[in-house]
Amino acid sequence: MNYDYIIAGSGAAGLSLLYSLLQDSELSKSTILVVDKDTKQQNDRTWCFWEKEAGYFESIVHHEWKNLEFKTEEFKRQFELEEYSYKMIRGIDFYEFILAFAKNFENVTFCYEQITTIDSTKDKATLTTDKASYSAKYVFNSTPIFNPEINTKNSLLQHFEGWEIETKEPVFDETIGTLMDFSLDQKHGATFMYVLPTSSNKALVEYTLFSPELLDKQEYKTALKKYISEELSIKEFEITHEEFGVIPMSLAKFEASPKNKERIINIGTAGGYTKASSGYTFQFVQKHTELMIEALKHGKSPLIKPSFREKMFHWYDKTVLDVMLSKKMTGKEIFSIMFKKLAPEKILAFLGNESTFWQELKTMNSVPLIPFVSSALKQLFSKN
Ligand SMILES: Cc1cc2nc3c(=O)[nH]c(=O)nc-3n(C[C@H](O)[C@H](O)[C@H](O)COP(=O)(O)OP(=O)(O)OC[C@H]3O[C@@H](n4cnc5c(N)ncnc54)[C@H](O)[C@@H]3O)c2cc1C
Repeated sequence: MNYDYIIAGSGAAGLSLLYSLLQDSELSKSTILVVDKDTKQQNDRTWCFWEKEAGYFESIVHHEWKNLEFKTEEFKRQFELEEYSYKMIRGIDFYEFILAFAKNFENVTFCYEQITTIDSTKDKATLTTDKASYSAKYVFNSTPIFNPEINTKNSLLQHFEGWEIETKEPVFDETIGTLMDFSLDQKHGATFMYVLPTSSNKALVEYTLFSPELLDKQEYKTALKKYISEELSIKEFEITHEEFGVIPMSLAKFEASPKNKERIINIGTAGGYTKASSGYTFQFVQKHTELMIEALKHGKSPLIKPSFREKMFHWYDKTVLDVMLSKKMTGKEIFSIMFKKLAPEKILAFLGNESTFWQELKTMNSVPLIPFVSSALKQLFSKN
């Protein structure tokens, strides 16, 4: 069967693209096939990100914060965001919102099959599942089929277990989110808690590590229990939601398109949208989606070549990761220096690829020269 577009993988990137295609008066008339092995009916993740304006998914923002906090044992900084808002969207709300919207379009077909291969010629791309083959002008792929090899030399894993907890008594201030609390044992690598209260008696508490290997399942749970009891002083609570995630923080190249297969466009984590130094992906998915839609509207290829500025941000990112991977500095040291010396809003701008060159010079000036210069030079000449 032949379509205009096939979306392989209906997660954050696939569904963001579908939603944007269907928002456009012309592109929404295209025939679109969405293929995923999963029906996306679970609340499997919670996305947080920051933006200045109301975004595409404003109506499903679960909670937002204008006040954030960064902590270590010896230092605490609470700050109010002027321009940005830190926002949370629950996976299930996102999936339900877009899937309900797409139901209004007869030209959109969903198919729940395991994708085995995706290939392309000069004129069309073909996707094969365990049941059938489908072709289209373009296949937008967010499955890991073309992902590069991840190993302990080129990558750290950002792994975390998050619990949404509910207490009987009001114990949280839902106007303040803890972005990073590094006052924890750092023996496995950068280790912090993330505490996002959504009401006076509900919060998402996440135990997060950047390290080469995952921990035993029980270790995440023990750390969460200890933190909730000792640091948050909460003795009685109910776990209302649990999530576990692993995000690659990698120097390996996630190609925008597999070699000589320009009818296949990798998107999302598979397309290299995950920020190597922080794991944040959601806001970069939205930015890339906008660029692809703009290209398609003008009859151009949606294979977007990175701009000079994007290449610069990618280089900064790889530099920070290289410093952590080569153990020149720990994640705790890097983030502590930044939060001690720089305006937090500017840090968010830098981490969101929205800073100015002047701010980037200030950021570079805030960190120790020797480890960063050697990693920056190494990454400048690396092929990825
Ligand atoms: C628990 C968790 C929390 C996260 N929190 C944040 C956050 O707060 N902020 C942020 O910016 N980023 C976050 N991330 C990182 C990133 O935003 C998410 O991983 C995001 O979902 C990536 O989008 P994606 O479309 O690339 O991949 P996914 O959303 O994972 O979508 C890929 C889809 O492909 C399907 N698929 C895979 N293989 C096949 C196959 N062979 N056949 C058929 N279908 C297949 C999967 O079922 C899935 O639906 C989080 C990640 C996780 C795991």
